[in-house]
Amino acid sequence: MAEVGNELQRHAAEEHQAQTDGFHLVIDALKLNGIENIYGLPGIPVTDLARLAQANGMRVISFRHEQNAGNAAAIAGFLTQKPGVCLTVSAPGFLNGLTALAHATTNCFPMILISGSSEREIVDLQQGDYEEMDQLAIARPHAKAAFRVLHAEDIGVGIARAIRAAVSGRPGGVYLDLPAKLLGQSMEAEKGRKSLIKVVDPAPRQLPAPDSVDRAVALLKSAKRPLILVGKGAAYARAEADIRTLVEKTGIPYLPMSMAKGLLPDTHPQSASAARSYVLAEADVVLLVGARLNWLLSHGKGKTWGKPKQFIQIDIAPTEMDSNVAIAAPVVGDIGSCVSAILDKVGDDFARPGADWLNAVADRRDTNLAKMAETLARSRDASPMNFHGALGVLKDVVKANPNISFVNEGANTLDYARAVIDMYEPRKRLDVGTWGVMGVGMGYAVAAAVETGKPVLALCGDSAFGFSGMEVETICRYNLPVCIVIFNNNGVYKGIDVNPTGGRDPAVTTFVPGARYDKMMEAFGGVGANVTTPAELEAAVNEALRSGKPTLVNAVIDPAAGTESGRLTNLNPQSSAKK
Ligand code: ADP
Repeated sequence: MAEVGNELQRHAAEEHQAQTDGFHLVIDALKLNGIENIYGLPGIPVTDLARLAQANGMRVISFRHEQNAGNAAAIAGFLTQKPGVCLTVSAPGFLNGLTALAHATTNCFPMILISGSSEREIVDLQQGDYEEMDQLAIARPHAKAAFRVLHAEDIGVGIARAIRAAVSGRPGGVYLDLPAKLLGQSMEAEKGRKSLIKVVDPAPRQLPAPDSVDRAVALLKSAKRPLILVGKGAAYARAEADIRTLVEKTGIPYLPMSMAKGLLPDTHPQSASAARSYVLAEADVVLLVGARLNWLLSHGKGKTWGKPKQFIQIDIAPTEMDSNVAIAAPVVGDIGSCVSAILDKVGDDFARPGADWLNAVADRRDTNLAKMAETLARSRDASPMNFHGALGVLKDVVKANPNISFVNEGANTLDYARAVIDMYEPRKRLDVGTWGVMGVGMGYAVAAAVETGKPVLALCGDSAFGFSGMEVETICRYNLPVCIVIFNNNGVYKGIDVNPTGGRDPAVTTFVPGARYDKMMEAFGGVGANVTTPAELEAAVNEALRSGKPTLVNAVIDPAAGTESGRLTNLNPQSSAKK
């Protein structure tokens, strides 16, 4: 009898082994496509999905808020060229993740937001399910593509489509809706295995048309005052080697957009960063490489752009052309292929720009760099510490540690740091991107540490940090080598505003004065430091980088330092009463 019982048990076990389910198929499909990390927040109906992913060897980073997990996934996509995956629960969790999905789409970062959802039958009849929401419809306008899978045998196709949509052409955010019922569906393991798709060549090269390259090179050759402007599309495309060759072979000054800093070291002699206003106004031909003429570039017109000019634009999205001003020479294709095709045509006999242009740029640059050096030197001893005093030492820290990721968000903390801190390696500066958004800091810091395995220095304004500050617990829980520095000036922009009514409430832009953010890190077992001088700041950050321990440095900055909206004062409508 015992033997029969054993036989039955074995049989049942074999039967069981021969089955798979939605949970496993999702995990197997991701792994089959080389996706090893999930950023998310478990809960109904995806708790077991997260557990099983971990049990099956994936790295699952659980956050405290989905928006931060989503931002982590978005920047993971930027850093790796593979879609970063964010996993959320239904309705509210999904909505929290949606901000990051829209952010990824806006920034051209490949990301997949996978959300569990309630039962279609009930949602569609609006019968009041647990966390009822038509998530697919809501996600669609914020994503490059949105899919829902209803049957376990379609999971392979669903994941394959999500991956292709995220990384091919212009990268972006993709929504994948997985109803609770799907995850529990079972099917024969062998059939399930065969239903999965390993995506072949998910982001195919897109070669530019040869005549578009000829047109671009002819225009470049005709330029008297040429400029190369590189954006984060070029950083994403990992085109730094060919871009450097192009810059050096042609002798043309170049300007990096914020997240393209470090593509070539900022100290490169042809960098025109410190002469930005001058080169934008004066150039006659501008070659845009993976940068859009959006608000960050004053839409390619107006006072910023001064003299008339012609644009050459390299971009993978054909519809980007002429979106703000006429593009005289569009080159549509992937940046790697386009730059190398241009390089081939440029040839060794390219006439470098005239000395008058190069000298004029160099003069401006050197004058501005000297002014900056003077400001930094003067600020070292300023008491209370101001932005430049603090940034001077962080500039040295990044110079000494060029391979750390540098996350940066805030208003003044962002604007000043971008100008002061040189980057030396590609994809190391991670910041507020196309929206100029705050709240990306901790998500970015976590993902940068996880994806690169190297230390992260996250410099946040006190306001910016507040959006994702609870993730210090995540940083401690996963023991990540993240050093957060908060420039604490007691408020948004500044900490000295007063309530004009004299009433009991504080002014709308102020925070608790003298707050000790470092105590937050200590609460979870990390290292906290409170510093009031540049020397103390430098020591605390160097120690954090040396130890690799989660650290938060509360850098006390003069509450009167800083300007309204940082550099974006012009975007603030003013009330007529204030005028
Ligand atoms: P920045 O903010 O640095 O100016 P943008 O995000 O505005 O950069 O522009 C990035 C551009 O790069 C987008 O228009 C996008 O279509 C493009 N892009 C992204 N990846 C590639 C690629 N592999 N090849 C070509 N263009 C790309």
